[in-house]
Order: sequence, then C-alpha cells, then structure tokens
Amino acid sequence: MAYKIIAEQCTGCGACEFECPSKAIKEKNGVFAINAEKCTECEGSFDTPQCASVCPVDDTCVPV
Ligand code: SF4
Ligand code: SF4
Repeated sequence: MAYKIIAEQCTGCGACEFECPSKAIKEKNGVFAINAEKCTECEGSFDTPQCASVCPVDDTCVPV
C-alpha cells in the first residue's frame, strides 16, 4: 500500500517532501508526486502518514 497526492488540490508548498522518511516524494516542474514503490505509509517511522499530517490541504495526501 502507498499514499498518493491529489495533484489538482496540491498547492506545491513542499512541506511533505521534507517530512517523508522514505524520500518517496519528489517535485518535478512544480508538481509533487509520491513514488508508490518507495512509500512505506510511514510504517516503522511514524504512527501516522507524515505527508497527510503536514499537508495544509485536507484530503490531498490519501491512500491509493
Ligand atoms: S505515507 Fe509516509 S512514506 Fe508514504 S509518501 Fe507519505 S510521508 Fe512518505
Ligand atoms: S504538503 Fe500537500 S500541498 Fe504541500 S506539496 Fe505536499 S501534497 Fe502539496
């Protein structure tokens, strides 16, 4: 399982990229995306998915 970013709702603030313990979030041409193969859902690092926790826009980082 992995998380994904709803691109239409993402403001491009970049907060999630730095909080991801798996370095699964990358920005390309102003668009942030989660590499599903790298995303661990923060298991073993945090109790809750950090991208969803820090994202200022509700329901933008969601389970795939
Ligand atoms: S759920 Fe965790 S591991 Fe997956 S992209 Fe979000 S911060 Fe990174
Ligand atoms: S924290 Fe949310 S709004 Fe900011 S770049 Fe990540 S997905 Fe987009």
